[in-house]
Amino acid sequence: MPASRPPAPARGLLAPLAALVLLAGLAVGSVLALQPPAPAPADAPATSFSAERAFAHVEDVAAETHVTGSEAHARVVDRLVAGLTGLGLDTRVQNAVGTWQSSPGGAEMARVRNVVAVLPGTESTGRLFLVAHTDSVETGPGASDDAAGVATLLETVRALREGEPLRNEVVVVLTDAEEACLCGAEAFAASHPLAPQGGVVLNLEARGTAGPPITFETSRGNAGLAERYAAAVPHPVATSFAVEVYRALPNDTDFSVLLARGFTGLNTAFIDGNAAYHTPQDTPSRLDRGTLQALGDNTLALTRELGEADLTDLARPGDADATYFPVLSGLARYPGWLVWPLAGAAVLGVALLAVVDRRRGSPLSRTLLGILAAVVPLVLAPLAVVGLWRLLVLVRPGYAGVLDPWRPGFLRLAAVAVVLAVVLAWHALLRRRVGPAGLRTGALALLAVLAVVLAALAPGGSYLAALPALAGVLAGLLPERLRLAGGLVAGAVAVVVLAPTVALFLPALGLAGGAAPAAVATLLGLALLPVVEELFTPPSVPGGRRSVAVPAVAGALAVALTAVGLAVDRFDQQHPVPSQLVYALEADTGEAWWASTEADPGEYTARYVDGRRELPHDYPYLAGRPVAAGPAEVAGLPASTVQVLDDRTAEGRRTVTVRVTPQRDVRLVVLDLRTDGGSVVGARVEARDVPDDAFGEDRLWLTFHAPPRQGVEATFTVEGGGPLTLRVVDGSDGLSGLPGFEPRPAGVDAAGTHSSDLVVVGATTDLG
Ligand SMILES: [Zn+2]
Repeated sequence: MPASRPPAPARGLLAPLAALVLLAGLAVGSVLALQPPAPAPADAPATSFSAERAFAHVEDVAAETHVTGSEAHARVVDRLVAGLTGLGLDTRVQNAVGTWQSSPGGAEMARVRNVVAVLPGTESTGRLFLVAHTDSVETGPGASDDAAGVATLLETVRALREGEPLRNEVVVVLTDAEEACLCGAEAFAASHPLAPQGGVVLNLEARGTAGPPITFETSRGNAGLAERYAAAVPHPVATSFAVEVYRALPNDTDFSVLLARGFTGLNTAFIDGNAAYHTPQDTPSRLDRGTLQALGDNTLALTRELGEADLTDLARPGDADATYFPVLSGLARYPGWLVWPLAGAAVLGVALLAVVDRRRGSPLSRTLLGILAAVVPLVLAPLAVVGLWRLLVLVRPGYAGVLDPWRPGFLRLAAVAVVLAVVLAWHALLRRRVGPAGLRTGALALLAVLAVVLAALAPGGSYLAALPALAGVLAGLLPERLRLAGGLVAGAVAVVVLAPTVALFLPALGLAGGAAPAAVATLLGLALLPVVEELFTPPSVPGGRRSVAVPAVAGALAVALTAVGLAVDRFDQQHPVPSQLVYALEADTGEAWWASTEADPGEYTARYVDGRRELPHDYPYLAGRPVAAGPAEVAGLPASTVQVLDDRTAEGRRTVTVRVTPQRDVRLVVLDLRTDGGSVVGARVEARDVPDDAFGEDRLWLTFHAPPRQGVEATFTVEGGGPLTLRVVDGSDGLSGLPGFEPRPAGVDAAGTHSSDLVVVGATTDLG
């Protein structure tokens, strides 16, 4: 061997490009593995689930908008009772009043009609509850949300009836008023005779029209249920990271109510195709039948698994959570007690690698610089994706009102390309200053620190950082000549762990919330640095055309994908721009407004509103915040009448009973009671006590959904203070026929909010 060698020539691009192509292929494979299967035809074997058979139920339930309390909803309930009875289940309707989400000064209640059907077990060890909600939102037929869930349960029960009876009792609970206030689930948990012993719940939900059904929420101590899920389900898409994220979010479904009441279980929803969610566009034809098939296959398999399992322990919250995540078409899973050892091993491993780096000529100072440097893309890339969305909203103002565009595919890829461009540009800028080893080990150190932080705060998400860090450390410890091979293997680990997370979190948070998935994508980029480094000229060789070329290619890709994404996704008749509009009338003062919760009202909404203001009276969904508003003609809409049935004072407490009777077809009434200086200490509405946590204020804002035609009877107890006033606001759906209203043109549709096209009428009664 000669003592000195000439400087190494520029590296060949072939090997690193081949490695990157392999990794990109693996990423695509990982994401495709999440996608639902083809729908099974109507003549599929009787014991299996068929999306085509289930779809007939979707069309039936979602034939029209069927909001809680409506005649359309009553028809849906009747047909479901007939359907389940026809399948041989003991099926009844639970008529009750539910209440949920009360807080000082406010409460929500609803008159509900839950459908409860029982399939007895042969030797039951506990109850398995299959739950979906029958009501739709006010503005749309709710084909995906949640006719798909209801239809899945009907087809699941049909398939079950074709096989041997299960060991455990299965109870189908089709709840009412989920959209209004989760009040059907609450009424079931609070007063149904089958509820007190609890059990295991499988809840089916939707927040879009497509994509894989994701099991995103569990009861505490989910190790036992995760084991059953992994063993049974043919299309496993579940991650313990989502469980942690959801636990930290204020979002709620029926499942939240049941968990709070001691039930255990799994909550599953499909979330892609969010543009149609809660809008008139949530029609049967938009529901992806592959999604329905995946939901059905999984629900049937889990029902069989849990139907035969010993539920004694599974029906109680466990003491250990598991870590689990999709890997290709399987589910990787390990016990929660491994989270800290893995995070600790990642930290120790990085420390060891830093020592080895030092021996190889990269001093510790460079590793420390690398750690600081690694924070930069983790901040910049999410900011760049936020910037991309701002830019998209600027180019297409209609995006301001959506979480995700109708056809977000190319724009999602653009967001990933933006992340890639940021990581590559950062790497190109720093690799000569910090050195490839310093950058690589710095990035791994950041991952290891994140693994520890997540282990402490969100243990189910620690794997996202710990596993890529450990793989990267092992690859870094390999001899120099195995650098690329090691980088490829470690990169593969990072890809299978992180790529599905990016793919699931992009629709979960929407492009409008793209910062979080961008952060996960950045972690993936950092984990791929050893392979990426091979694209560049070695630091020992002068010249750096590739330092510009490599990030420029990613940047150009981001621009191209954005342009294609904007060209592909346009608002049109089939993909309308959302418009949010409310009509509010104060009957006794003769004032009326158009109002909108749109931050920047679109062309159609702008015809009705002329500025932002807080309305002079409080209306549901609009109170306490400035909204876009404009004057409206006064419509001849009668306010609800208030009749005092009883009024007595004893021991300093005044108790007033009123009957509030809507004079038109409404879906909600708000009873807004105020005392001058006193405090509301009790209330009972339609024979149900309002929860205690609503009391203690000088005001009670009580929303009652689906009020009976003959009116709502309410008793209030007030302590101290002077005169009482009761302002009643009732609300109905649909703006057509109102003076000055022009129907939306093609290409504009009601936005997916609970207040779109709401007509509210308020009037105040002095109770003295
Ligand atoms: Zn729903």
